[in-house]
Amino acid sequence: MSEVFNFCAGPAMLPKPVMKRAQTEFINWQQTGCSVMELSHRSKEFMALAKQAETNLRQLMEIPDNYKVLFCHGGGRGQFSAIPLNLLPEGKHADYIVSGSWSSAAAKEAANFGNINTIDITDGSGDQTSVLPTAEWALSPGAAYVHYCPNETVNGIEVFDVPNTNGVPLVADMSSTILSRKIDVSQFGVIYAGAQKNIGPSGLTIVIVREDLLGNAQKQTPCIMNYKLTAENDSMYNTPPTYAWYLAGLVFEWLKEQGGVAAIETINRQKARLLYDFIDSSNFYRNNIAPQFRSLMNVPFWLNDESLNAQFLEQAEQADLVALKGHRIVGGMRASIYNAMPIEGVEALVEFMAAFANQHT
Ligand code: PMP
Repeated sequence: MSEVFNFCAGPAMLPKPVMKRAQTEFINWQQTGCSVMELSHRSKEFMALAKQAETNLRQLMEIPDNYKVLFCHGGGRGQFSAIPLNLLPEGKHADYIVSGSWSSAAAKEAANFGNINTIDITDGSGDQTSVLPTAEWALSPGAAYVHYCPNETVNGIEVFDVPNTNGVPLVADMSSTILSRKIDVSQFGVIYAGAQKNIGPSGLTIVIVREDLLGNAQKQTPCIMNYKLTAENDSMYNTPPTYAWYLAGLVFEWLKEQGGVAAIETINRQKARLLYDFIDSSNFYRNNIAPQFRSLMNVPFWLNDESLNAQFLEQAEQADLVALKGHRIVGGMRASIYNAMPIEGVEALVEFMAAFANQHT
């Protein structure tokens, strides 16, 4: 079978070497005679694997020692509830910055658990959607925390500057940007991410939480969402998603072999530039986000003649370029180009897009 490039926004493609290694180890992991998914999470083999995965993630992201790394269930949306449950005491409020559909959904869910102040930072008044500079975000006094989503997976909007919240804990939904570029973890109170884009398969959620934020959970917080309890139990208060944890560990090893986050960021910037430059140079396709806020990971684009959408998708699939259909909220197309997407995949996409445009002009 020829190589397929999968542009799905998530679950997304995983690095080929990782998949091959998982295949080799599938039914006999480390000479145990069992698959890793058949072992107790408390077996010494699995505990060692779990620890190593955390160590590698800590190295990759340079996570300071005063942060806990939690391996949770429940995906990004699970954290939409867990964040207010753990961080929003009664009588206080939290600021939710809205820059697209996921940050809006996070705010809506959080409102089930406390007082939420939403702050829209998008500016759609021009031809291109733009975002207010972080210094102009109208944060409210006395917020328990500020929540934002640095990369909006659906809208393709990325905020590269980290806002200064004057000491108020900053919470970031990094589901679609984690490990794609260097960040300074110490600027954040909590970082969370569903695994199914840059980390591994769905079913695992990473939470990186500063220690001083543990221990203030609302009374009704379910045990499996309680950060303190999860941390005290090394993310094994209940049975963790062991196979997803194993695969995440393999992805972290792979990323270290690539040279780590700085090295993959260079490639990610090349991939994104290649695609955006092509779109900008064409009269056939367009992207409507202001250049300084364009996502490195999720590139939405539209055909000027939308009646060709179905044909575009069908021919792309025939060319082994799959899952390019845009999210139903914004329509058009979307190419998700996470860490595992090689530059050859983006080159093949640009080549296909150019040929399709030629055929129809
Ligand atoms: N936040 C962001 C930025 C996302 O992209 C997604 C899923 N694509 C979610 C949250 C929700 O994640 P999940 O489906 O794992 O709940």
